[in-house]
Amino acid sequence: MDVFIEPIGRLINEFTKLPGVGKKTAQRYAYKIISMTEEEAKQFAESVLYCKRRVRYCKVCGNFTEDEVCDICKRRDKGTICVVKEPKDVIAMEKLHEYKGVYHVLHGVISPMDGIGPDEIRIKELLARIDGDVHEVIMATNPDVEGEATAMYIAKLLKPLGVNVTRLAHGIPVGGELEYTDEVTLSRALLERKQI
Ligand SMILES: [Zn+2]
Repeated sequence: MDVFIEPIGRLINEFTKLPGVGKKTAQRYAYKIISMTEEEAKQFAESVLYCKRRVRYCKVCGNFTEDEVCDICKRRDKGTICVVKEPKDVIAMEKLHEYKGVYHVLHGVISPMDGIGPDEIRIKELLARIDGDVHEVIMATNPDVEGEATAMYIAKLLKPLGVNVTRLAHGIPVGGELEYTDEVTLSRALLERKQI
C-alpha cells in the first residue's frame, strides 16, 4: 500500500520517470513543488509544456532547434560534419569554442544487443548530406564498443563517396563519454583526430 496521499504519489511517480531520479529524490522534488507558491508551481509546469511545444529537431542535423533548421546549420561551414550520438554531445563540442563546422546527430548508435540496427539511427540522413562541398566527416561517437563499431560502419559507407573520414584521437578514456570528458582532453582529441 502506498504511504503517500494520491496527488503526492502521482507527482513522485512522474519525477521517477526522469533519468537518475530514484524514489527518494522524486519525493524531495515533490515536496519542493508543494512548498512553492501557486505562481511558482504554475511557472514550473508551464516551462515543461513550453519547452515541449517549442523544441524540435533540426531537419538537417537532428539537433534541437526552435526553427526548422538550427542556427549552426544556417551559419557555419558545411564542409566539415561532426557526427555525434546525441544532442548533449553537440553541447560538449560547442563548449570548446574551436569547432567551426556543422554536426550530424545520429540519435543513437548501432547496438545489436539492444536491437538497434543501422536503420534505427540517422545514417541515411547523413549519407544524403554528402555532396561535393563536404570534405571531412569527423566521427565523434563515444569511444565505447558501440561508438567504435558505429564509427567504423559509417566510415565504410562514406569512403566510396570520396570523403575524408576522421576519428577523434585517443585521450578520451575508453568506455568514456564526450559529455564527461574535460575540455582540454576533448580539445586535443579534436585537434589530433586521425584518418580512418
Ligand atoms: Zn541543424
